[in-house]
Amino acid sequence: MPNDNPLLSPGPLPYDLPDYTAIRPEHYLPAFREAFQQHSGEIAAITRVRSMPTFENTLVPLEESGKLLGDISRAFYTVSSADATPEIQAIEEELAPLMSAHHDSIQLDSDLYWRIKTVHDGLDDLEVDSEQRYLVERHYREMSHAGAGLDDPAKERLTALNQRLSTLTTTFEKNLLNDTNDLAVVFDAADELDGLTEGELSAAAQAATDRGLDGKWVVTLTLFTGHPYLSSLTNRDSRKRLLDASRSRGSRGNEYDNREVLLEIVRLRAERAALLGYDTHAGYVTADETAGSPEAVHDLLRRLAVPAARNARSEQAALQEIIDAESQPFTLEAHDWAYYTEKVREAEFDLDRGALRPWFEAERVLNDGVFRAATELYGVTFTERPDIPAYHPDARVFELHNADGSELGLFILDLYTRDTKRGGAWMNSIVSQSALRATRPVVVNNLNVPKPAPGKPTLLTLDEVTTLFHEFGHALHGLFATVTYPHFAGTNVFRDFVEFPSQVNEMWIYWPEILDAYARHVDTDEPLPADVVEKLRASEAFNQGFATSEYLAASWLDQAWHSLTSEQAGVDLDVAEFEASALADIGLDNPAVPTRYSSTYFAHVFSGGYSAGYYSYIWSEVLDADTVEWFRENGGLTRANGDRFRQRLLGVGGSKDPLAAYRDFRGRDADIRPLLERRGLVA
Ligand SMILES: [Zn+2]
Repeated sequence: MPNDNPLLSPGPLPYDLPDYTAIRPEHYLPAFREAFQQHSGEIAAITRVRSMPTFENTLVPLEESGKLLGDISRAFYTVSSADATPEIQAIEEELAPLMSAHHDSIQLDSDLYWRIKTVHDGLDDLEVDSEQRYLVERHYREMSHAGAGLDDPAKERLTALNQRLSTLTTTFEKNLLNDTNDLAVVFDAADELDGLTEGELSAAAQAATDRGLDGKWVVTLTLFTGHPYLSSLTNRDSRKRLLDASRSRGSRGNEYDNREVLLEIVRLRAERAALLGYDTHAGYVTADETAGSPEAVHDLLRRLAVPAARNARSEQAALQEIIDAESQPFTLEAHDWAYYTEKVREAEFDLDRGALRPWFEAERVLNDGVFRAATELYGVTFTERPDIPAYHPDARVFELHNADGSELGLFILDLYTRDTKRGGAWMNSIVSQSALRATRPVVVNNLNVPKPAPGKPTLLTLDEVTTLFHEFGHALHGLFATVTYPHFAGTNVFRDFVEFPSQVNEMWIYWPEILDAYARHVDTDEPLPADVVEKLRASEAFNQGFATSEYLAASWLDQAWHSLTSEQAGVDLDVAEFEASALADIGLDNPAVPTRYSSTYFAHVFSGGYSAGYYSYIWSEVLDADTVEWFRENGGLTRANGDRFRQRLLGVGGSKDPLAAYRDFRGRDADIRPLLERRGLVA
């Protein structure tokens, strides 16, 4: 009964925030079913129209369609990521195939595609504004990309390829998980783990007990090649065992071997790209990113690789000097890098990052740091609204007003970790801004900060402070949107662009007047000592030759695999040989600096959503560094600067070509030099 379901009728809360106090888990699936039906009906009404397709009779109702589904989805996925009780998890599992089937039925709808294509083909004669023009282009591109323009046999092949790829990527993930668990390293004696803290040792002992290995120590592997313990283990052989185990994942010839799996993924992706009209999978993916083509990506990666490899070699020489001064010198290998790097860091910077926490009290960081920077830049003010309930008691609601007093939207901060929250930190929207629908934004930031004992202050690490500024940058992107069509709201931009605004917001962390306001000792109110600030700044470029090289190597492997044509991917390939020649090709084959991920455990690209897209992080960082320089050149933290960034960049969301928006803001295309300087890569 729709009337009984709070998801199916307007709630009592402002800004269209769903009334979570009235929503129970059993409300979701019936509401989703109703929303699927409604959405399909709305699409059918568009395709039933007899008259020729126009912007007004096709694109406008398309943008108006699916509102209920969008609202319910955002309400649900907010909870399924931040408070996934077993009931919510079960619903999510049941929902996944329904959701993808519904999505496919619309993305591959031939009649809808024909109407959009017809409008698109007549765009030159159409009287539309630039946002409307871009809307037509985006819908046309996205449906073409999904395969809506294919004939029936090709669509059938496409569906078969998608299904097989979905199975293969799931297999890849399961194999990786199993092999990672099997390869956890068992140590027989405590002295093999010399250098670890008491806490780390007892965790290793507990992990052994959990595996029925009482009296031993077990160290589990992390996702990437390196391991946090490599920087502290004094026993060289232990370091080697740990790194060797990590690097052998998925390529041991056992039942969890991922080599054949990834080769088939590469083959099928190349075949799918060919079916959709592209030479390679990388061509297919980058055509719908700001990069535009694999060549543009390869160009950037090659440009960065040369200085990064050179810097890594000089870092390596410095580490070798320390080793040579020891009583039994040896040649540095990959498993020694982190350990000797830590020695250099301590000697050079004398910095104990863990001791900084009393200066980063969460309320202070939020109000006098994150919020204050936004007020100075954009004139927005924040009022906590404890009277408005969110989806969990820990999720706090803030109302934002513009400088002229008008209402802007709601910001919800959910700081603390709990068993029902997934790991990491993220931003998502509960309500997205759209003039067409007359909605104002409601956005959420989630972090996983451990909750202190009752009555104790929350003291953040520097990494958590960085995360808070970063995620709030995404939040501003969502809050400042001033688009007409919901398709373009806020953070709905290209993957290789979306990290840019959040990375820029990190620049205020060290901005003197902001830092001085928020980094105050929790007991004494003393500011962070100047010499500590100086060391923090100075240590930012430290070890960047290594860090940049290992990241670029992984990005290059991703590009190399996905730049094979269907024909090239069809021949017998050897994974190890392919990797070695790809890394040699770009000059990132220094054995002391292994790639951040090897192919057989590169989950981002073989089971996650980053295939041919792992380059995105550094692509966004080019824009970020160039923007930081612009702020510096123009006087930094001022309303004029903030307003320009807000109007020309954040506010437009996805409603225009992002690089055109960038030019509009910056007055020219992005320059790579600020990034090179930041990472110490200038010759
Ligand atoms: Zn981010």
